[in-house]
Amino acid sequence: MDITSKTTLAAAALIAGSFAFADPFGAPPDAKHAWGVHDDNRPGVKKISADGTTPPSDAVVLFDGSAESVSANWCDRAGNPTKWVVDDKGDLISVRGAGYIFTKRKFSSCQLHVEWAAPDKVEGFGQGRGNSGVFFMGGYEVQVLDSYETDPSKDPNPNPNYPDGQAGAVYGQNPPAVNPCRAPGTFNSYDIVFHAPVFNDDGSIRLPADITLFFNGVLVQDHWKFDGPTGWRRRASYTRNRGDSGLKREDKMPIAFQDHGNPVHFRNVWVREIPRPEENVTHGDYYANEDKVLEVRAATADKLDAEFDAKWADAKPGIKLLEAWRVATYIATPSRLARAAEAEKSFLAAAEGLKKSDMEAKLGLKSDALQGYYGDLLRLGFVADDNPVLKLLGEAK
Ligand code: MG
Repeated sequence: MDITSKTTLAAAALIAGSFAFADPFGAPPDAKHAWGVHDDNRPGVKKISADGTTPPSDAVVLFDGSAESVSANWCDRAGNPTKWVVDDKGDLISVRGAGYIFTKRKFSSCQLHVEWAAPDKVEGFGQGRGNSGVFFMGGYEVQVLDSYETDPSKDPNPNPNYPDGQAGAVYGQNPPAVNPCRAPGTFNSYDIVFHAPVFNDDGSIRLPADITLFFNGVLVQDHWKFDGPTGWRRRASYTRNRGDSGLKREDKMPIAFQDHGNPVHFRNVWVREIPRPEENVTHGDYYANEDKVLEVRAATADKLDAEFDAKWADAKPGIKLLEAWRVATYIATPSRLARAAEAEKSFLAAAEGLKKSDMEAKLGLKSDALQGYYGDLLRLGFVADDNPVLKLLGEAK
């Protein structure tokens, strides 16, 4: 609906003595949708701040350039203070032999932002040049590597490497779509969406882990579904319950960065916990859980019932009719259907002989809006073809 008609409706509701607002123009809830289209009963969205350069206000900041944020948030495999160091520029640097660095806090599905730079002193080739890695759930590695010179279009390739092990690869499984790696000593960014795997009680896999990776803002992994934990030379399998980080599988696990012997730099690390998409079960077809949808519809209808009289007793007949139907479309109990039938009677009495152009002022809303809503009620079987409101609206001049 456009702003003008919304404003008109709001004004109509105000004139009716209520600040509440009838916005009926979306299709009602159904078996797979707990709310109507544009339904203002749908839970509101949490407001956060995000300027695109600093961590969003709801992020967990894991490293902000200070030694304090390392000691507060990171440890070695045994839980002791890490031997990784922070330099005078505020970079966190991998130290050969110090082992992986682990978050103290555990995560499952998450959004992670991390920036990394390969050592500016270029040493070694292929897997030996600027190797580290970002590990989720102990065993799912996104490779960090100096892949700046890796370019198969050149003959000879200045730094040949196996594609499933270069920067941005899901290690040993899927190469990045392209290679946007920056020069050694220059920071790259990874923005990662990782969904943790879900296992059945018998240990078999129910939902695979997956990953989406933006590498310097470029999509290089697009919902890649892992074959299992990543590993060197090994075909992945979910039957392994220990990843390359050495940690045993749990529901939530630390995020880890790899010590592969090269002084790779890290900065600006933050994470946000997210649900798996399959947990979003009340908004639509694909992941809908019809039992949960019904539960939410029942709770919403109960809430609307409880506030109905206080909110709509003095509303104009069109508004009251819509609101009566709206409660009934969540869950149609006999009392709600009776209230809608009563509202139809009042509406018909008030609308008798009105011109279409007068309906908004007298009834609270435009005839075509109500006609559209009744089309949905007809489609869902709440009203019949010969419904008198439909008839009146159809015949109005
Ligand atoms: Mg690695």
